[in-house]
Amino acid sequence: MSNYSAHYVQQRAEASVIIDRDKCIGCDICVQVCPMGILALDKDGKAYMKYDECWYCTPCQTDCPVDAVRVHIPYLVR
Ligand code: SF4
Ligand code: SF4
Repeated sequence: MSNYSAHYVQQRAEASVIIDRDKCIGCDICVQVCPMGILALDKDGKAYMKYDECWYCTPCQTDCPVDAVRVHIPYLVR
């Protein structure tokens, strides 16, 4: 069980989409451009990754007006 937990934590630390909450202005653009609908705004109006189904297509990163989104593309997908 402890091994599983460690693996899980490692995966969480490598989330495919990282939102800089300090930069995010809650414009909702990344939420709207994501074809998978995996991004959402939280109760503070900040974007976050609601589901872990990322396609690494990156419009969320390129369309964010304040450069708050970083998509971490796994080595094997590049
Ligand atoms: S990279 Fe694509 S699938 Fe992943 S969160 Fe951004 S827009 Fe959505
Ligand atoms: S596009 Fe950028 S500023 Fe707008 S909600 Fe998404 S992360 Fe926040």
